[in-house]
Amino acid sequence: MTAVLELKNVTKRFGGEVALDRLSIALEANEYISLLGPSGSGKSTLLRIIAGFEKPDAGDVLLEGRSLAQVPAYRRGIGFVSQGFALFPHLSVFENVAFGLRNREDDPLRDGAALRRRVDEMLGLVGLADLGDRGTDQISGGQKQRVALARTLVADPKIILLDEPLGALDANLRTRMRVELRRIRQQLGITFVHVTGNEDEALAMGDRVAVLDRGRLAQISDPDSVYNRPESARVAKFLNCYNMFEGRCDGDGVFQTSGASLSCSPDGAGPGMYCVRFDKIKVTPAPAASQAAGTGIQATFITSEYSGPRITYFFRGPGEKVLEVEYHLSHQRPEEFSVGDEYWLSWLPDEALVYFQ
Ligand code: ADP
Ligand code: MG
Repeated sequence: MTAVLELKNVTKRFGGEVALDRLSIALEANEYISLLGPSGSGKSTLLRIIAGFEKPDAGDVLLEGRSLAQVPAYRRGIGFVSQGFALFPHLSVFENVAFGLRNREDDPLRDGAALRRRVDEMLGLVGLADLGDRGTDQISGGQKQRVALARTLVADPKIILLDEPLGALDANLRTRMRVELRRIRQQLGITFVHVTGNEDEALAMGDRVAVLDRGRLAQISDPDSVYNRPESARVAKFLNCYNMFEGRCDGDGVFQTSGASLSCSPDGAGPGMYCVRFDKIKVTPAPAASQAAGTGIQATFITSEYSGPRITYFFRGPGEKVLEVEYHLSHQRPEEFSVGDEYWLSWLPDEALVYFQ
């Protein structure tokens, strides 16, 4: 695969604060890449540097092998869909999409028929074929999102940058737009960079997921690898689906954490973090502890939270630590646990991930 865009050791500071720290990343042609990271990790800054709205303090951005250092934003051939959509409120849907073509610096499109053809094509692509005449106050949030996308796509960019594009939509719409965005990208064959703070969205959307942590690239791999094999405890934490125990291991296959000894692989030693995914845990009545297979911890049931296809049970373990257990309801019925009762939470030692500092 060839990199369509490459960042090499990009650093960006604001005052004394480092927003991007020698960040290097290569985006392939024709891929959907999710950029996941907590608030303040540098996601928007990264997009703004790629788009040309900010200049890096050091490092370089290459588009198809050529440096963009001297190329202004409007000549980069990179589309940017900002967080709030930023539509022109006084223009119709059609005119919002046509605006960039009519008014662009290089070769503005004045031919009415050609303009109409191009805009209609884009409105069709994003599923707004019949809404061109509407005002921006006569369409829904999801439709605004589509207008913003059409307005960016109409310029025929090589890359589209989307900054938390689904953040303003309600949950139902968000799921539909996920499918739509992937379809549109596939149809166009260009690269999409989709910034999100939501781990489910990042894993669902990306051909690859890049995880940003304090201005650095913490991991970049396919969603399955990110989910099953986070490369660091911090990535595991961002994924929001691991119970994490701080402690240490002395190379004997036993990880000591406050109030419990957990089995782990005997490969490493030292202080570290022991992680076990919410959906890898089995819950049994506490007296079974002595016979239980695997390794585990005794904990008190607090409450549960039902969310359609899955249910999350919350327990309180040693040291008041809250533990989460997730059951997928397509495979089983919800369990009835009694609030305040003790249970044994167990898992196979192979399923645990241990990160040493
Ligand atoms: P994210 O999009 O991941 O939430 P940002 O890229 O917006 O993160 O911000 C990264 C860091 O840079 C934050 O600490 C933020 O406060 C800082 N930052 C971003 N833009 C500016 C700016 N224009 N002026 C000062 N600090 C900024
Ligand atoms: Mg941001």
